[in-house]
Amino acid sequence: MSTNVTKTLQFNCTTCPSECLLTVEVERDVNGSVAAVRSVTGNSCPRGDKFARQELTCPVRVLATTVAVSGGDEALLPVRTAEAIPLALHAQAMALIRGQVVNAPIHMGDVVLKDLLDTNIDLIASMDIDPA
Ligand code: SF4
Repeated sequence: MSTNVTKTLQFNCTTCPSECLLTVEVERDVNGSVAAVRSVTGNSCPRGDKFARQELTCPVRVLATTVAVSGGDEALLPVRTAEAIPLALHAQAMALIRGQVVNAPIHMGDVVLKDLLDTNIDLIASMDIDPA
């Protein structure tokens, strides 16, 4: 006999500015973890369905932070992941990024760290930095 319970959740899709209110029926196991996503409604397009399922199983976000610069006209370089990475990896990624120093010149889009934490997603520069 299954001890899973079905719950209805509501949250907004943040994929585009429409921010559709999604109603999602999930099955939770005895530990409260999502065992299955039963249905998604309220989405105006298929991306909302994908967002809801991703958000409840493996939420992802773009990570944006800064990296120290050596020899540049700025001390810090804004960087971001080229795509969203699992939220569960953000703390580990920050620990790795904190120890990085990049050398000027740097151009927007330059890869600062390739294949961040084996995600297949690069950490890239968000602006240009000229030599000091
Ligand atoms: S469901 Fe589609 S239209 Fe609605 S916020 Fe998400 S991406 Fe935008």
